[in-house]
Amino acid sequence: MPEVCAGCVLVVDDDPLMRGLLSRHLKKAGFQAIHAEDGIDALVKLRDALPSVIIADLKMPRMSGFEFIGVVRRRFPTIPVIALSGWIPSEFSEDIKPDCWFEKSMLEFPELLQTVSYLAGIAPKHVDLPQVISIPIRPRPGRAGYVALTCPDCLRPFAVPSTPEDRTAEQTAVCVYCQARVPFLIESSAPQLSTPNPAPEERLKAGGR
Ligand SMILES: [Zn+2]
Repeated sequence: MPEVCAGCVLVVDDDPLMRGLLSRHLKKAGFQAIHAEDGIDALVKLRDALPSVIIADLKMPRMSGFEFIGVVRRRFPTIPVIALSGWIPSEFSEDIKPDCWFEKSMLEFPELLQTVSYLAGIAPKHVDLPQVISIPIRPRPGRAGYVALTCPDCLRPFAVPSTPEDRTAEQTAVCVYCQARVPFLIESSAPQLSTPNPAPEERLKAGGR
């Protein structure tokens, strides 16, 4: 169970000026800021250290704050997230809902820092990782010559080429989005897999007969 770096705040924003400004304010308030340029970069940073609190912009390249918060909610559900963005939607769906949110144009730093302190105080000191997938994972058969994998880090699906000769030993794919190393194993009986959770299209086919 990884330890949380007490007093560390992960600042996720593609604007370097905003990251710098937040860092200075956080440092003055006794926190240590870890920087990330977007959601993908933030997931890479989370491999090294788990912060007490995450502050995330919503509009970012490569992986938006919405998708990032969704990944954090599934992989690190106890880490509090504050959304800080130029635009805040009037409603968040539950799976991507931050703990609280601030609009950049209305931002009062004392209020933000008070919120960070409060959330850091109630956040657990250990983080359960319910989404850690034990290795190797078993991929779904994809289109011919490919297998479909889901990255355990960014939770995005991607396809990797596979030849019949590969179908015996454990292999490692590299996620095309976040470069996580994803071990997988194709069983020789893969085409007749009776997986406990068949893909939706398989369920449909089965139901249609
Ligand atoms: Zn990935």
